[in-house]
Amino acid sequence: MRTVVAKFGGTSLADAGQIRKVADIIREDPARRIIVASAPGKRSADDIKITDLLQECYDAAVEGRDYEKVLSAINTRFQDILSELDLDILLEEEIEALRHHLEEGPEKGYVLSRGEYLNSRILAEYLDVTFVDPAWCVYFDEEGNLDTRLTRRTMEASLRPLKNAVIAGFYGADINGKIHTMNRGGSDVTGSLAASAIRADLYENWTDVSGLYAADPGIVDSPKPIEYVSYRELRTLSYMGASVLNTDAVLPVSDLDIPINIRNTNRPDDPGSMIVRKLPKGKTKYPIIGVAGRSGMSVIQIEKVRVSDGAGFSALVLDILKNRALPFEHCLTGIDSITLIIRSDLLEDCREDLLDEIRQTLAPDFIELMENLSVIVVIGEKDTESSDANIRVLWELMHAGIPIKTINQGAGKLNLLIAVSEERYREAILAIYKAIEKQKV
Ligand code: ASP
Repeated sequence: MRTVVAKFGGTSLADAGQIRKVADIIREDPARRIIVASAPGKRSADDIKITDLLQECYDAAVEGRDYEKVLSAINTRFQDILSELDLDILLEEEIEALRHHLEEGPEKGYVLSRGEYLNSRILAEYLDVTFVDPAWCVYFDEEGNLDTRLTRRTMEASLRPLKNAVIAGFYGADINGKIHTMNRGGSDVTGSLAASAIRADLYENWTDVSGLYAADPGIVDSPKPIEYVSYRELRTLSYMGASVLNTDAVLPVSDLDIPINIRNTNRPDDPGSMIVRKLPKGKTKYPIIGVAGRSGMSVIQIEKVRVSDGAGFSALVLDILKNRALPFEHCLTGIDSITLIIRSDLLEDCREDLLDEIRQTLAPDFIELMENLSVIVVIGEKDTESSDANIRVLWELMHAGIPIKTINQGAGKLNLLIAVSEERYREAILAIYKAIEKQKV
């Protein structure tokens, strides 16, 4: 029988109405056996996520401030859900346990995890299925890192025998039972681990958008949804700031070729985006699937005649960055030049210092720092030559009169990187989107 692990995010489970929608989705397909739940998220743009309220309680307790008002807001949110769904969970006891823990000198993992814990118990009760506490099957090592191997084994043992279950996302425990949380948005990772542990046929990730779009909807009006995207393309999109899925959620399922389907709880009939290694037979994909970008970038351009004669020069430049623990985003080399793309905020306190060190160590013929840039990545993979797609992108930029500050492409596949000034960023995205719209398979 087909098995689907379905993870529902915070907005999908923000209140009783949303939980009803989620229950309908789950009941509609019996393959949706293992459900991963987030804490209640925002009900509207100005609402506060339960995890943020829990963080407020924790901070107040640690700093000796009063947290009763926030705790009471958390209680009310859950109480409203329980009353509307006509469920009888001993919420008072749970809130009392949290209050007691806060009084005794709280542990952050425990406090922050209570949103997922309670919401998953509520969903399990509503669906009348088993609740699985990840404190017993998601493990962290002594350094606080997720122990993926142990987690997969224990999750498999816990989940496989169950016909249906709800497991809380976002947290686990170390071998002494101390609760640890993942990074924010970590329930995506729990879902991915569960799907890999039971070797599910599909990992569904239900959220509040109908998948990934070919461009930022904040810039392009109604951009095309992306039907198929590869795991690698998704990583690039996420790296560039598309935040539909936690990047750490890709690896556990991509290892086993389990596809991820991003779906919209509020529009369950939309097919969403499929994240796969290879396109299914009979499906074709456009050479360029999307465009994404990030502003707040700086470029350091270093020129010296005969730079390329030996490997030493580049190594020295990178050593300077390494010794300063200064990460760079991209490094492009030319015959007599090296270009470094670095996040501007990282240069804030060391701009002049860094340029001086490069001048003193390398005696370059020319060095320049360009600031207020945006880096745009044109995403797509094709086994064939990709210059055709590149030319279309560059043609649109030229036509829009947008100067290109730097440009680069790794070998083979399309993943074209272009830097433009921040002022022209939106125009550049709109221009490149034209190339996406005009393409034919
Ligand atoms: N509730 C957590 C957060 O707000 C984790 C999650 O939703 O995945 O980040």
